[in-house]
Amino acid sequence: MVGNEARHYPHILRKIIHDGNELGNHTSNHPKLSQLTEKEILACDESIEDVTGFRPVLLRPPGGHISDRLLTLSRKTGHILIMWTWDVDAKDWMKPGIRTIVRKIVDHVDPGDIIILHDGGGRRTQTVEALPLILSDLARRGYACVSVSELFSQTHLQNLKPQK
Ligand SMILES: [Zn+2]
Repeated sequence: MVGNEARHYPHILRKIIHDGNELGNHTSNHPKLSQLTEKEILACDESIEDVTGFRPVLLRPPGGHISDRLLTLSRKTGHILIMWTWDVDAKDWMKPGIRTIVRKIVDHVDPGDIIILHDGGGRRTQTVEALPLILSDLARRGYACVSVSELFSQTHLQNLKPQK
């Protein structure tokens, strides 16, 4: 969640939390990685916390890059850095068509993947229409969608199982 959007759409944030979803920090104003500051990250935390009472622990930086400075900033602000599965990216922000968005995700997804889709940066009609198709296809194939925190805890539990 981008912090300044959180302040514009408080009812949507409350619904996201109420429905059992997880919110992560995506900075306050979505700056370029080179212009990301501690203040940008903490201001987003404050916006989300003001609206929902929930302070995010996950940080997804704008763009798809990680730098040493970003790692330091995430540690310093108390966040866990989270990205998405690189080859399950439909680039929905480019508006490639509903069918392309669906296919690029359902044809490439594997268990444990984190799927990226966008809700900002222009009209997201295609994404909104593609999402139910993606979810029903995944459900039909036995996938369950979980929050990132649930995914981490399941991965953790699987790693504790004795190896045969
Ligand atoms: Zn973004």
